[in-house]
Amino acid sequence: QKAEWAKLVNEQTVTSDGHHVELAANIGTPKDLKGVINNGGEGVGLYRTEFLYMGRDQLPTEEEQFESYKAVLEGMDGKPVVVRTLDIGGDKELPYLNLPKEMNPFLGFRAIRLCLEEQDMFRTQLRALLRASVYGNLKIMFPMIATLSEFRQGKAILEEERQKLQAEGVAVSEKIELGIMVEIPSTAVIADQFAKEVDFFSIGTNDLIQYTMAADRMNERVSYLYQPYNPAILRLVKMVIDAAHKEGKWAGMCGEMAGDEQAIPVLLGLGLDEFSMSATSILKARSQIRNLSKSDMETLASEVLQMSTTEEVLEAVAKATQR
Ligand code: PEP
Ligand code: MG
Repeated sequence: QKAEWAKLVNEQTVTSDGHHVELAANIGTPKDLKGVINNGGEGVGLYRTEFLYMGRDQLPTEEEQFESYKAVLEGMDGKPVVVRTLDIGGDKELPYLNLPKEMNPFLGFRAIRLCLEEQDMFRTQLRALLRASVYGNLKIMFPMIATLSEFRQGKAILEEERQKLQAEGVAVSEKIELGIMVEIPSTAVIADQFAKEVDFFSIGTNDLIQYTMAADRMNERVSYLYQPYNPAILRLVKMVIDAAHKEGKWAGMCGEMAGDEQAIPVLLGLGLDEFSMSATSILKARSQIRNLSKSDMETLASEVLQMSTTEEVLEAVAKATQR
C-alpha cells in the first residue's frame, strides 16, 4: 500500500468526479519541511510558531523569527504557507512571561488575547512575518479568535506595522491573505459575519470539539465526549464552510480531524477546500480522496447532518465508502 501511495507524491488531489482539494501539512519548525515535500504536501496549512518561543529563556528576536519564516516560505517555493501567530497558553506555557497561574488555562489569557495585550511581542512577530512575506506565498492566521473585535484589532496592528515598514523602505508583499482559526464556537456560529472581513477560515477542530462539548481535550475521563463525528460538530463545520463560500472565501481545517480517514468523506461532501494534517498522512489521504466522488460525498454529508449520534454517522460513512 505504501508503495502505491508513494506514486502519488507529484499527483493532484482530485476526486473521481474531478473536484480538486488542497492537501497541506501542519509543521512546527523549518526542519519539518523535508517531510512536507517528500510526502507531496501542496502547502503548509498550519505553521505553529509556538515552538520558536518555547524551550528557551527569552523571547525570540525579530531577526530569528524572520529567518525561520523566510526559510519556510522559500522551502515551499511559492506554495501557500499559513503561519499562525503565537498561540501560547492552555497546554503550552512560556515560563519567562511570568504569567499568573489560572484556574482554567484553556479558557484563560492565551493566544490572541495575550498578543493584543503584550503588543510589543505581537508586533515583533508581525514585523518578522511582513518582512519574510516577499520570499513566498504567505498567509497569516490569528488563533483563538472569539469576537470580531479581536480580529479587527489584530488586523489594525498588522496594518500599522506594514505601514511602518513601508515607510522605512522595507519591501512587503501586497497580497498576504489574513485569516482566522475557527476553534471557538462563538466564531463558528457567526461565521457569516466573519466571512465578510477575513480572507479565509481554518477550522481548528482540536479546540472546537473541546469547547463545543465542554470536554477537556487532555482529560481521559471525559474523552468519550470528545466526538469529532457528533452531528453538533459537523453542523458547525458546515456553517463555517458555507459562510466562507457565500463570500467567495476558502475554508480549510487544520485540526486532527482533517487527516482522519473516517472524517475525510464527510468533510469533502461539506465542501472543505483545504485539509491540513501531519505530513505523514498526506499520501494516504490523497489516495483515499482520489477514490471518492464529491457528489456521492455531498449526499452522505447531507444525510449525516440529520443524524443525532456519532455511531449513526460512522455507520453511514462506512456504508457510503465501502466498495
Ligand atoms: C486546533 O485547535 O485544532 C489546532 C489546530 O490548534 P492546536 O492543536 O495547536 O491548538
Ligand atoms: Mg487550537
